Amino acid sequence: MEQCIIIGSGPAGYTAAIYAARANLNPLLIEGPQLGGQLMITTEVENFPGYPDGVEPFQMMDDMRRQAERFGTRFVSGIVTKADLNPTPSHTYQIWVEDTQLYETYSLIIATGASAKFLGIQSEEDYRGRGVSACATCDGFFYRKKTVAVVGGGDTACEEAQYLAGLCEKVYLIVRKPYLRASQIMQDRVKNNPKIEILFEHNTLRLTGEQKVQGADLIYRKGEADEEIRHIAIDGFFLAIGHKPNTDLFKDYLALNEEGYILTEADSPRTNIPGVFAAGDCADPHYRQAIVAAASGCKAAIEADRYLKSL
Ligand code: NDP
Repeated sequence: MEQCIIIGSGPAGYTAAIYAARANLNPLLIEGPQLGGQLMITTEVENFPGYPDGVEPFQMMDDMRRQAERFGTRFVSGIVTKADLNPTPSHTYQIWVEDTQLYETYSLIIATGASAKFLGIQSEEDYRGRGVSACATCDGFFYRKKTVAVVGGGDTACEEAQYLAGLCEKVYLIVRKPYLRASQIMQDRVKNNPKIEILFEHNTLRLTGEQKVQGADLIYRKGEADEEIRHIAIDGFFLAIGHKPNTDLFKDYLALNEEGYILTEADSPRTNIPGVFAAGDCADPHYRQAIVAAASGCKAAIEADRYLKSL
């Protein structure tokens, strides 16, 4: 029987593990499909306090993992395939890893993150970390005075385009429909920004370039039979077509919002189930930053400790 299981190995999960281990909860952390979490798909981390010269994502996540290990966190590599969060008289929850290994715990911290959606074209994979990014706040700085494209027509895309316009020479906003879906105020901002050119009814066919992104071929579709291929020269390609929180496993138990983010009590990590806490991007549709995720992991571990003492 475990006192505290943590699911997820991003900044939220590792920070929860550091705090839980130091509170003598002897945590067990299940690492999940992407060791290190979402951060691992960025190029370099320059906005996490404590690294004045920036840090490679792998290094930062390895530092966090070793810090959690130093205080006694135990790790299980594998994917959680099933969870039973039905309340039991003994106040325990059940977690299955790869369908076969069963773990039981008194408290659970869910830090499974949210995955950025990608278009699904091959060149996104080919240029991953070499000009393709899903986070303007994380990677925009590397494209100062350069030309970039943002894909999407929602609030995130408009916000990212605005942010990048503050750094870059020019920003293309590639929108598949003839209109933006974003809130009016965000639409007005991008439309009035002279550095942003909106390409309505455009879809990305492929990225081009040697070693790194240098351009994109787009299809401009004006109607069923009327389409042309256009090429734009760009240095960076930012996806902003939404995120999907990794919460499917818990949807039968936890209160989620319409998009699947875990709902928590006010600004605490407490979910609707006692002893189950949510930390990081799986409960945060707004900020999606490593430092925010780390802070919420800390809060979740403190809450788990208080909960266990109250049992
Ligand atoms: P949204 O789902 O609102 O928008 C996604 C955008 O990506 C849409 O324009 C959609 O196009 C486009 N898209 C989706 N798939 C593809 C594809 N395969 N190819 C090309 N384009 C695609 O996601 P957001 O992340 O923008 O926003 C999520 C939520 O968070 C929203 O409720 C938003 O309002 C909110 N938010 C609020 C902010 C704020 O208030 N400051 C900031 C950021 C987000 P289409 O329109 O054709 O479906």
